[in-house]
Amino acid sequence: MRVIFSDLDGTLLERDTYCWKAANAALLVLKERGIPWLLVTSKTRAEVDHWRRVLGNVHPFVVENGAAAFIPRGYFTDAIPGATRREEYEVIRWGKPYSELVRGLDAAVHASGCRVHAFHDMTAQQVASACHLPIDQAELAKQREYDEPFEIVDTERSGELEAALDAQGLSCLPGGRFYHVCGRHDKGGAVTMLAGMFRRAHGGVETIGLGDSCSDIPLLLAVDIPIVVSSPELSAIVQHVPKALVAVPEGPAGWNDAVLEVLGDQDKSP
Ligand SMILES: [Mg+2]
Repeated sequence: MRVIFSDLDGTLLERDTYCWKAANAALLVLKERGIPWLLVTSKTRAEVDHWRRVLGNVHPFVVENGAAAFIPRGYFTDAIPGATRREEYEVIRWGKPYSELVRGLDAAVHASGCRVHAFHDMTAQQVASACHLPIDQAELAKQREYDEPFEIVDTERSGELEAALDAQGLSCLPGGRFYHVCGRHDKGGAVTMLAGMFRRAHGGVETIGLGDSCSDIPLLLAVDIPIVVSSPELSAIVQHVPKALVAVPEGPAGWNDAVLEVLGDQDKSP
């Protein structure tokens, strides 16, 4: 069986409009054939809940750059080691608590003299305009649990800031729009664990991964068929993942064509 792991922003969703409709043909094929497609994103649980409803997705998902995996209860028959039950999900957490990240980022700003503009200091209105999001979605985006996005104001001091975060055991990951401070986790660890669960449940599994930014490199390295959706970071990603296929055009249209091609359904491409 095949399992797809996909980033959202700039990959399945258009970077600025968050529209996915150009991927409709491929999504229909996945649903018709019962092929699992898992969202693996820097978005929050609250945002992914929204997008799973909009997209009609019923599969496990990964939030906040690999900080936690949410598996619908009963999705796998075997017990999930290390999972805790939370509402209708089994949750595996790798991330550090949000309050610890905010404290760590403040300390790193102080130590490095590199000013930042972080989510916890931004109003929902400011997040909405920075991310081109409607205000209700900006409120969902502010419900961080394991990852704090920020913009660097003093870019010439970014190296010192990264070192100060590293000294506290925190990671600084570049994303499509923001940097992210988080614990020592990435999308790749979560994808590897979930792929293992599919293999235990179903035997032979071929994994396909799609992403558009450098924070997707660990995801792309963790799958059998990595696909980079075109973006300004394309060449940096391909350097790290030389066997990656490249989806053109950008965003959901490229996602659609690449998924149909890998599944052998190019003729259904619009
Ligand atoms: Mg992205």
